[in-house]
Amino acid sequence: MTTPSRHGDPDAVFERDERICRRCGTGAAEDPNGLALYPVGDAHEPGPVHESALVTVCAPCLGSLESVPGEDVVLDDDALFDLVRQTTERQGVTVSAVAAFASLATELPGKLEAGEHDGDLAGEYVQARREVLLAIDSVDSRLEHLHAVDDSTLEPAVAEALTAFRGGGTKLQSELRGIVALGESVAAGIGRCHGCFEPIADGESRCPVCDLEYRDVEDWRPAPGEGVAFHRLFEAINETLQAASGTTESLTGHTTAVAEALRGG
Ligand SMILES: [Zn+2]
Ligand SMILES: [Zn+2]
Repeated sequence: MTTPSRHGDPDAVFERDERICRRCGTGAAEDPNGLALYPVGDAHEPGPVHESALVTVCAPCLGSLESVPGEDVVLDDDALFDLVRQTTERQGVTVSAVAAFASLATELPGKLEAGEHDGDLAGEYVQARREVLLAIDSVDSRLEHLHAVDDSTLEPAVAEALTAFRGGGTKLQSELRGIVALGESVAAGIGRCHGCFEPIADGESRCPVCDLEYRDVEDWRPAPGEGVAFHRLFEAINETLQAASGTTESLTGHTTAVAEALRGG
């Protein structure tokens, strides 16, 4: 069991993450002072954050994640396409991370029953959750910049293609968040904190270890006091995964449309 502390020790987190930026893969060897901590999930509050919700990123990635767009931003064609390209790249990373997290989550009840080592399960779950939340935030930060672009400065065809791209991107984000929330509910369903994976403490509404508010899974119980119906949760995960895959496909089309509109084609 980890010590109930909310104070993330930067060195311990860097060590755990092998001193590599979990967003772009930059290692400390290239810039020993360039690593920073980024809080994921619901941990965006002032005050210390538990290490389970802290992730190692490099300084440029932290800057990108925290950058706030101005209003009515004017971008030239190259800068606009670059932003669309970055968003698409990040979406690709996110879709893979969500699929990996979903598959891990659906295996949790079986693995727990099979007596898999608790520390291994916890480690895998907490890491996969961190990476998926970081990936989602990375797309959010790019989408925010795209939303800030002043459409009136764009060619109508570009503005139209961009609107479709932004709409698809926002829809995908919400589907992916939904899948992550369902995966977290699986952890809660086996009696674990959906953030740090420590056993849920009786009579508490927040986790005494990581301070996250416990996930309410009452809706997934056939009757109060009964176990969570995991098959229903898994069905919901699969349905949302399918919806997200459809949205990803149409987004590819929107990306191409933006590129073509920018080329004046
Ligand atoms: Zn980085
Ligand atoms: Zn916790």
